[in-house]
This record gives sequence, structure tokens and C-alpha cells, in this order.
Amino acid sequence: MSNRFIGARQTTIAREIELKGTGVHSGAPVSVTLHPADVDTGLLFVATKRGRIVAEIPAHVSNVKNLTLCTVIGDEAGVTVSTVEHLLAALRGLSVDNCIVEIDSKEVPIMDGSSLPFVEAIDEAGLRELNAPRRFIKVLKPIRVEEGGCWGEIAPHSGFHLDVEIDFDTPLIGRQRLAFEMSPGIFRNELARARTFGFMSDVERLWKAGLALGANLTNTVALGEDRIMNREGLRDPLEFVRHKMLDAVGDLSLSGLPLLGAYRSVRGGHRLNSLVLKALLEDKSAWTIVQAPRVRELTPRMFDTPQAIAVGE
Ligand SMILES: [Zn+2]
Repeated sequence: MSNRFIGARQTTIAREIELKGTGVHSGAPVSVTLHPADVDTGLLFVATKRGRIVAEIPAHVSNVKNLTLCTVIGDEAGVTVSTVEHLLAALRGLSVDNCIVEIDSKEVPIMDGSSLPFVEAIDEAGLRELNAPRRFIKVLKPIRVEEGGCWGEIAPHSGFHLDVEIDFDTPLIGRQRLAFEMSPGIFRNELARARTFGFMSDVERLWKAGLALGANLTNTVALGEDRIMNREGLRDPLEFVRHKMLDAVGDLSLSGLPLLGAYRSVRGGHRLNSLVLKALLEDKSAWTIVQAPRVRELTPRMFDTPQAIAVGE
């Protein structure tokens, strides 16, 4: 098990990271700054307006306000941050335990529709280990949620295993299934590059609703009647299911701590992922919090590059 997680200590990013982009729904420019954070901060969104803090919203399923098209978190006063899932996926996927995400808009920038720009930025900054053991939510019994033709289940497991299956009624996607024992290396190499996707037939409806105003072929794989509209095509034949797995990493990060469990979803999405997580957390006999079993002594030199921390990929 020791090689599945990047050491037994909590981590944060080694330095501040600034990212600029566009909100996929608002179409507005956004800047996001990732700040190193102390032990047990978790992943925390700090919304600012003209340089002043207007809300602090922990990335937790209890703060999820909407899941229609993307994951929206918010506070009691009604301040929200949308499209948090690809950034959260990058942070959790690379085993960043603690990070403050400062954002001056209602929406995390869509970048290229994947987690890759976030992963590259985090890798460039590197990680720093903190002087406290990593904590996990350990799943103790299976929890299953069925809704319509979808189902999701999380079951006990020594690491974090993901098994995701999708089945779309178009030959452009069809049925795809992938499973991985997750690690930073697997996230970086297998999932991070997979872009979000949507159907051209939905676009007009979304635009009328004032959504997807920033969606275009630079940040979305667009599916027409019988072809993919992006000139460059797919990044991988299984890009669709890879993206759904990436989304699941982000959605499940809303547990607040890394999970020790095996998650399987069939024809699911943000909503199902969130329902399974809520069902798990509501059943106090289904999970417990555990600490990493041992803290390795590492020399400072090992913190130089993210690869040095990503043990055992
Ligand atoms: Zn997504």
C-alpha cells in the first residue's frame, strides 16, 4: 500500500500559482490563485470581490448547491463558485491535501476543458510535505445508490480504486469502461488530459438559458449528429470515459479527505457521484477516519520535483 500514496504526510503546494482563463458558462475572464495552506485546511475556496474576501467555502459535499451541468459550491449567504470539479480533480488527483483557492469570479476557468493546465501548473510549483500525518476516509461497508438507469457504489478497499462505465446512445461514444488503482501518476498520465464533452444539439438550449456562453471547440469536445466537430479530433479513443473518471475524482474530493475505497459508477455523472458520497457520509457506520500508518523521514532534496514525491508510479 505504501506506493499508492505520495508519502504519509499531508501536502500543500510549494508556492503560489496564478491561473487565468474564461468561465465556460459566464464567458467572463477569471483569475484563480492557488495558495499553499496549513495542515488540515483541506481544499478551501475563497471568493473575492475587488480584492476583498466575500466568502470562504470548503470544498465539501455539504456545500454543493447545484449539479445540473457542473459542480457548484456555495455558502449560506448565497455566494457560489461553479465548475470546481476539474480543478478539484487535479488537486486530489495529485494528492494535494491542503490548498486555498482564491477566485475573483463565480466560476473556475474552464481552461482547455480538462485538468491538464491545472496539473501542469501544480507540477511546476511542486508539492511540500507538512508536519502532520495524512488522514483518509476509510470505507467500512458498501454503499450503493441507484437512480433511473444509473448506479454507483463505493466499497471497502485498501487504496482508491475507480471503475467507471458510460453508455451513450451514439456510436461516437457508445459503451466505454475503464478501471484504475489511482495514484498521482495514473491521474497525470491517464485522466488529466481528457476534455469535457457536449452535444451540439444541446448547445442552443444552453445558450438560451444563459449557460455555456464560453463553451467552444478550444475547451469542449463537441459531438455533432455523426461526427466530432473539433478539427483535432479526440486526444484518445477513450477520452469520454477518461473525462468521466476525472470528474469522479473531483466530485469525490468533496468528501473533504482522500478516500480509501473502491468506487464504481455505471452511466453516472456529477449527480450520482454526489448522491453516493452523501449516502456514504450520512451513514456513520459506513466509514471512519484513519491516519496514514507511518511517517517516512524524507530529506529536503526529495521535495525538489513533483516526481520525487510521487512515489511508486
Ligand atoms: Zn467535467
